[in-house]
Amino acid sequence: MNFRQAVSYTNKIYKFLRKINSEGTSLPGKYLRKFYPDFLIESQDYVTSYRFAITGTNGKTTTAGILAQILKEAQKSVIHNELGANMPNGIATAIALGLYNNFKEYGDDTPVDNFVIESDEAYLKEIFENISFDYLLVTNLFRDQLDRYGELDITKKKIQEGIRINPDLKLIINADDPSLYDIEKNIKNDMIAGRKKRKVYYFGFENVEFCDFDTQSNSPSEVIYCPVCKKPLKYSKRFYSQLGLWSCDCKIKRPKPDISAEVKVFRNYSILNVKFDGKNIMYKLNLAGLYNAYNALGAISCAYLAGIDRKIIARALDNYKPVFGRAQSTTIEGKDVSLYLIKNPTGASEVLRGLKNAQNTKILIAINDKYADGRDVSWLWDADFEVFKNFSNKIFITGTRADDMALRLKYADVNLGLMVIDNNIKKTFDYALKSLEQDEKLIVLPTYTALLKLTKIIKEKTK
Ligand SMILES: [Zn+2]
Repeated sequence: MNFRQAVSYTNKIYKFLRKINSEGTSLPGKYLRKFYPDFLIESQDYVTSYRFAITGTNGKTTTAGILAQILKEAQKSVIHNELGANMPNGIATAIALGLYNNFKEYGDDTPVDNFVIESDEAYLKEIFENISFDYLLVTNLFRDQLDRYGELDITKKKIQEGIRINPDLKLIINADDPSLYDIEKNIKNDMIAGRKKRKVYYFGFENVEFCDFDTQSNSPSEVIYCPVCKKPLKYSKRFYSQLGLWSCDCKIKRPKPDISAEVKVFRNYSILNVKFDGKNIMYKLNLAGLYNAYNALGAISCAYLAGIDRKIIARALDNYKPVFGRAQSTTIEGKDVSLYLIKNPTGASEVLRGLKNAQNTKILIAINDKYADGRDVSWLWDADFEVFKNFSNKIFITGTRADDMALRLKYADVNLGLMVIDNNIKKTFDYALKSLEQDEKLIVLPTYTALLKLTKIIKEKTK
């Protein structure tokens, strides 16, 4: 079998799985790599320009999505694992399907311009062993549900192993996250001995202003420790979680960003003023939340380094529609429904921040504890559900861990009379939808597998 046939078979497997209603994004890639083991390695010959990899604990999917949108807007052909399958098999599926479509449209063996590949932190090394990338963007390293067991250090080491084996890789790093400060510095540069130093670009916000909503966070700011000397860090400005303008007595401090910005965050959008190469450009991002402004700034940084025109970037940001479940809104039976994936305390708290004092809104929270969600739901206690303290509308609670969620809300002083608790996601969603008044909307906050379930339910309803 040759490469082109392997691509074509993968497409057939994918189509077949779709036909039997299986949402297989990693299975076709798994077969592909069995019957054509060098697929990922050879796939590199089918991309002519920049290959971007994106990793980090939060924001990978949105950052990669915005970057892919910018490149497409610039008339580039892009392969992008847009469904968020970010482990090697899922990535192989995405590349095979992307190439299949490209071959079909432009002729056999026609290469694409760019790869934009979101990679799970733990699999970065395996991906980099197969494909060499030009740029790696690291969004952030927030503590995940498992981090109370030191998972963050392991994650960081895994990213570093990936960087180390890829000598030509340039890095694009969030300067505001102190946990990324030494991500490149501790890597033994044995692979690039005798060569020039690895190029690292930093991006970050100099200032953040919240404009039309109350942003007081109820969660206590935890102390952040210096990645080098382990003493508490000092902040002249702290934006959220550990992100901000930080420094330490041991003389290390936030690196000066190459791509710096100021941002005004409004309830439903943000205005970024981005400075690069001595020029200031304003961008409007139609996504809520400071965390999304960070995602956009990361994507803009990549686009600048790829030499994309500012006007094209602005148009792409304006046209960007998030992947389902990442702050996407839809209309079902005439009602407005928005979904925001929640999966760890930092990300969840940032979503919740935007919901404080929300009017004409009902909330549905769906918490599952399957493997992909993280089995341990104790992170719910670290997320800022206190924003619902004075909420006066119904909150629907569902999923396998609905009871844990309800208990969490009870401790956040949410009125028990407002809670509707039922483990059955479909039943609860239907009920919540029916309960909406004419001018009310439904905000849904699911964990990952609950999101998959809800996506299916919504697809059925909007058919
Ligand atoms: Zn220090």
